[in-house]
Amino acid sequence: MSTNTETKKRTNMYENVMREFDKAADAMNLDPGVRKILAATQNEIIVHFPVKMDDGSIEVFTGYRVQHNNALGPYKGGLRYHPTVDIDAARALATWMTWKTALAGLPYGGGKGGIQLDPKKYSQSELERITRRFTYALGENIGPDLDIPAPDVNTNAQIMAWIADTFASTKAPNQRFEAFNVVTGKPVVSGGLEGRDRATGFGVVNSIKKWAEHTGEKVKGKKYIVQGFGNVGYWAAHFMNEEGAILTAVQDHTGTIRNDEGIDVEKLGEHVLQNGGIAGFTGAESVDGAGFFGFDCDICIPAALGNQITTDNAGSIKAKLIAEGANGPTDFAAEEILRDRNIQVIPDILCNGGGVIGSYFEWLQNRRSETWKIEDVLIRLEDLTGRAFDRVVKTADKYSVDWRTAAYIVALERLEQTYKERGVFP
Ligand code: NAD
Repeated sequence: MSTNTETKKRTNMYENVMREFDKAADAMNLDPGVRKILAATQNEIIVHFPVKMDDGSIEVFTGYRVQHNNALGPYKGGLRYHPTVDIDAARALATWMTWKTALAGLPYGGGKGGIQLDPKKYSQSELERITRRFTYALGENIGPDLDIPAPDVNTNAQIMAWIADTFASTKAPNQRFEAFNVVTGKPVVSGGLEGRDRATGFGVVNSIKKWAEHTGEKVKGKKYIVQGFGNVGYWAAHFMNEEGAILTAVQDHTGTIRNDEGIDVEKLGEHVLQNGGIAGFTGAESVDGAGFFGFDCDICIPAALGNQITTDNAGSIKAKLIAEGANGPTDFAAEEILRDRNIQVIPDILCNGGGVIGSYFEWLQNRRSETWKIEDVLIRLEDLTGRAFDRVVKTADKYSVDWRTAAYIVALERLEQTYKERGVFP
């Protein structure tokens, strides 16, 4: 069963980003020239490429890479394989990446892309050829100093390994080693970072801990629900479990399950690995998912797709905190309702920033030919995600704005400053 509303409303995603941007730009009085620059994406690459299927037939796929801004460094952001990927979704997600990397203080800009397809319809060997041919089609538009993709919905370490191998294979022998750094989120043996898999979920939970510290709450004993039990959802639940919080409901593309006594996170994780989704899990009851966001809980972690919390369900939410693991799960109008209802939101660009911070560590590790230990990775992640959180809270107080607007302001101030310092060529 699917409760996804993104197909119906996906064109709103870019509108949402721009409304959030306008609100923050007004609040901080962003320089008008910089505002014009940041309101546009720099490059939009659309490729149509043929791939041979297992039965010998040919299919033509459409892939996207939008490069929003690179004032602070190379474009950085994931690749998504999903039927809802289109130019608007790629624009929205690329723009969010610019804010996210600026907010985290990283030397990166923002990019995002993917292929419009349902990966479940293809065999592993077809997915490999689709990925390799997409990489080839993107050609010199990506690179370790230019634009560095990473995993997102339905893409993983294996797909990153195929991209790296394809990209490096098209280079001269003396450039191949460096070319392999074109993506982050690679398998550890192929240059990936130990801990990159859990970085986003770890950052989500670190943000929740910071919220608890800020408000005098305790994470221990809190009931929480998670939408999406893939990379972000599972790892967030794993770390919430370590904090003593109780998982009471989960929803994914295969169904919705609920157990008010608590769902065993690790058993559910095993089940999803073996079955591809939460359906059929015996440690909870399978329920109707239509009212998922209205289920009784203290904390809600959306960790699936965009535009899930809308004016249709914002009024029924019981959680006092929404920690946005996903990108763009709350639409602009729904957020107004949440604000009136005193429901705090840790915005995506802050809450899930652990992922791109982990990617940055991997990129550094590769460039320095080092191998980082997971303990060090998690300490540094905690430090950088915590510092971003503190900056947002301080800025929210300074401008008397909500945390999302404050997060944008922190990012926009950094971008504004760099444009002022460097000017605009020529
Ligand atoms: P994933 O592919 O590992 O998992 C996606 C999850 O979403 C799956 O559990 C899937 O069942 C669920 N889902 C898909 N369609 C659904 C539907 N219609 N209803 C309910 N659930 C549905 O992807 P991920 O990497 O965990 O990414 C999840 C979200 O987090 C995305 O919004 C992504 O942009 C964001 N994000 C990911 C990272 C990262 O490092 N992977 C970093 C930052 C943000």
